[in-house]
Amino acid sequence: MPSIIPIPAFRDNYIWLIRKGVRAAVVDAGDANPVIDYLDRERLELCAILATHHHNDHVGGNTALLSRWNVPVFGPAHENIPGRTHALVEGDTISVPELDAAFDVLDIPGHTAGHIAFVGAPDGAPAVFCGDTLFAVGCGRLFEGTPPQMWSSLGKLAALARDTRVFCGHEYTLANIRFALAVEPGNRALVERQKRESAKRERNEPTLPSTIGDELETNPFLRADRPALKAAAEAHAGGRLADAVASFAELRAWKNAFD
Ligand SMILES: [Zn+2]
Repeated sequence: MPSIIPIPAFRDNYIWLIRKGVRAAVVDAGDANPVIDYLDRERLELCAILATHHHNDHVGGNTALLSRWNVPVFGPAHENIPGRTHALVEGDTISVPELDAAFDVLDIPGHTAGHIAFVGAPDGAPAVFCGDTLFAVGCGRLFEGTPPQMWSSLGKLAALARDTRVFCGHEYTLANIRFALAVEPGNRALVERQKRESAKRERNEPTLPSTIGDELETNPFLRADRPALKAAAEAHAGGRLADAVASFAELRAWKNAFD
């Protein structure tokens, strides 16, 4: 059975590596060096590269990996992805036969204009690789998209099964929880989650993957349409907000100033 391994990169990125037998695929290979180190140490051969979006900390290692392994590169159709061989849009399904794995593609624009997610069960349990769109207790900044786009993209991820594990691109969880508690101090699941995730970080363990179920209960950006979150967003805005998108946009702007 394949397994999914986090490879830390840069300051707080995770490159996700899916391995089975002597083969491995990587998701969001921002840096080739830690990937090569891991593959060599474990005597694995690369069989595919998956990319969620074009930011360099997610694709910066592609060229160096391709110079050693001639493998397919699956990435969004509407972004520049180094070495891309398969240009993907929502509704596409890809397969990585070396891992016996298949993934459905979702379009989730907002952080970038062409951002995609890969949904599958490469190790037998449901998983989504969502780059910098949905984080544990947070979401990505809107560099290229609009609040309605991001709200819609987060809605697609929120609609996945609750036990779907969320493999995102950064270890931002504790900082995200501090913001979430400022917005929703009365959320007991969030208080419990802070204890749980802090303990993991003290043991130097990743807080990821999360699950969609945990995010639905604790992530303010998935909860922007709930009365408590809307009220907090309106208090911060100093006036009425028309709808869930406006509430989401206010929370996202609040978080930008909070960091
Ligand atoms: Zn990014």
